[in-house]
Amino acid sequence: MTRHTPELRQIPSVDRLLREPAVLAADPAGALARIAARAVLAGWRARMTDGIEAPPLAALADEVAREIVALRGGTLRPVINGTGVLIQTNLGRSPLSARALDAARAVAAGYSNLEFDLEAGERGHRHAHVAARIARVCGADDATAVNNNAGGVLLVLAALCAGRKVLVSRGQLVEIGGGFRIPDVLRQSGAELVEVGTTNRTYARDFVAAMDDHVAAVLHVHASNFRLSGFVAQPPLAELAAAAHEQGCLLLDDLGSGALVPTEQFGLPHEPMPRESLAAGADVVMFSGDKLLGGPQAGCIAGRADLLEAVRRHPLARALRMDKLDLAALDATLAAYEEGTAARELPLLRMLAASPASLRRRARTVLRISDIPGRSVPSRAMVGGGSLPQEGLDSAAIALPAVAPALELAARLRGGRPAVVPRVERDLVLVDLRAVLPEQDRALAAALRAACLA
Ligand SMILES: *Cc1c(COP(=O)(O)O)cnc(C)c1O
Repeated sequence: MTRHTPELRQIPSVDRLLREPAVLAADPAGALARIAARAVLAGWRARMTDGIEAPPLAALADEVAREIVALRGGTLRPVINGTGVLIQTNLGRSPLSARALDAARAVAAGYSNLEFDLEAGERGHRHAHVAARIARVCGADDATAVNNNAGGVLLVLAALCAGRKVLVSRGQLVEIGGGFRIPDVLRQSGAELVEVGTTNRTYARDFVAAMDDHVAAVLHVHASNFRLSGFVAQPPLAELAAAAHEQGCLLLDDLGSGALVPTEQFGLPHEPMPRESLAAGADVVMFSGDKLLGGPQAGCIAGRADLLEAVRRHPLARALRMDKLDLAALDATLAAYEEGTAARELPLLRMLAASPASLRRRARTVLRISDIPGRSVPSRAMVGGGSLPQEGLDSAAIALPAVAPALELAARLRGGRPAVVPRVERDLVLVDLRAVLPEQDRALAAALRAACLA
């Protein structure tokens, strides 16, 4: 590789670029233009040391103008989820209901009684806004919520088990994703992990044999994102609870997704529910707010009142506290369950319930509006988010015409406004309709047309 240091002098100064018409037009005020020009020039300086020649002034100015537009919009923006994976962590998990959005907006646009007791006129507790509702939907004595379920599990272990042992089946020492591993979380909490049983088979008697005065709890972890099949065994939760309680230990259940309605109604296998787990004898259950519950990011914790009190008093509870937007959205989401309107109100439940026929109809409508020669094809959508790992839902997708190589077409869709994230299967670019909100259909049609005609 040759280095042309003299070329470094050939690129214009920031001030020179700021006088270019394209740059002036993109940002007449000039503040963003300066940031953009610095970034663009830094990029070219780096490339030039690798012997790549910088483009002429006008091209650099165009690049700065594009950078200004990107800076103005920020990097976090809405996308249309054409992957067919409903609870897609990379795409922000559950879309919120209109009511949850309204609630978040209402408390965030001004002040709120976040930590203020309006009746008494004194300091209140932020968790109080959701505690009673979470407790009711779970059939628990008491509840609270923190920033996310990973935090909830960490907090519960730290508050109830630090300095003591926690028994976990070897079949449940799982990695949830994003590097969240149960053994690491246990270590961080200050509790000591004791592995019990084998990878494929663990019995209640394995737990009993491992119990002594130093054991604080048995931790049950829902196998959210994988299935063990074949010669496998795990004790039923009720049996595990009885064994734990007999020895004076707690049973803690990390449910993961926390479905609040039976998933059979969507043609899916049963996903364990907080209410069932508590009824089976779990002392504390933990679950996410933005998986099958269909709400904002949150970690719900429900169970025995004395244990919840200890959880709330732990210093980590402060570090993991929810913010007011999410609290408002969670409360509004839970309200829909309590009022029996969740199936109608929550976008996630509507997506789960949509009939394949209605998705096929929407696929054809989007194709007609976009006026591109694509096809409606059968597809398989997934629940995702570490819920029901092998369970697909019959769905419908738009197969785009092969106007460009599949990977290029997919990149065009991702680069569009709005961005569309499709699924690429062999040589086909597919946009599955199940995770597309019906109100996005028109925007989707326009985005598909733009990508195909580009
Ligand atoms: C998803 C999941 C978590 C982590 O929950 P977040 O809300 O993503 O922090 C923990 N445990 C289980 C079993 C899960 O499925």
